Amino acid sequence: MPTLVQNRIVVKVGTSTLTHAGGQLNLRSLDALSRVLQDVRNMGFEVILVSSGAIAVGRMKLRLEERPVGAAAPCGPCSELRFKQAAAAVGQCALMHLYDKFFGEYGGTVAQILLTADDIALPEKKQNLVNTFETLLEMGIIPIVNENDSVSFREIETEHKVFGDNDTLSAVVAVLCRAKTLILLSDIDGLYESDPRDSPDAKLIRKIYSVDDALRARAGGAGSARGTGGMVTKLGAAERCMSEGIDMVIPNGQKPGGIYDIVAGRPCGTLFVGGEGYDNA
Ligand code: GLU
Repeated sequence: MPTLVQNRIVVKVGTSTLTHAGGQLNLRSLDALSRVLQDVRNMGFEVILVSSGAIAVGRMKLRLEERPVGAAAPCGPCSELRFKQAAAAVGQCALMHLYDKFFGEYGGTVAQILLTADDIALPEKKQNLVNTFETLLEMGIIPIVNENDSVSFREIETEHKVFGDNDTLSAVVAVLCRAKTLILLSDIDGLYESDPRDSPDAKLIRKIYSVDDALRARAGGAGSARGTGGMVTKLGAAERCMSEGIDMVIPNGQKPGGIYDIVAGRPCGTLFVGGEGYDNA
């Protein structure tokens, strides 16, 4: 197993944290997250952010009524995929502009990295990618990663998923960059024993040592209408991380201050123990 970089974290934020229920950008979330991540960077941690939101932001900007839905065929006059890819192209640009502004206000520098599955599958590309990440981190820069939705179709289609969603992508990045911890910001406080929307007394699970079918069944399906992830994709990400000795934590994205607890080894959300973990009980 490769040696992990002890002060390196990957943080994933989803569309549901970055936008309001009506689809407009949640500037408070974006600002708070940027401030905490830059501060954590200033504390001496190396930070990689995996951010969704490109399609949602592009859709708002282009005034497309619904989240563009991908069609089975990747092109053609009636394909909706082209709108989705156009929205991603417009939205990615707008999103990075905001990150650049917010991180800039807190004295930070960010960089954009857009990935497709090929970039990881081909050894030469993969090595170049690793070199780029390492160089950016060495320079104190926070790389901001997303799927390259505008040039690939498999990644944003449900039928031929490769990364498919940013939960998976962030786990791929955590493994690639040998991060110690992956933090998947969610719209709830972590993984519960039952769905907290149905049972208000549902208990938060603090620590998980392995992902099995019973846990998968308990986690249910997709998340909100604005994102593509749900607990199931998060469990897949957890398995990928744990098999490489990487800890994964699911905290609430509306409380980014939890990231301070995680890097300090204090209990926060649900911890999937990949490495030594910490006392999250
Ligand atoms: N890459 C997509 C976007 O930026 C989101 C994928 C996901 O939410 O998992 O809109």
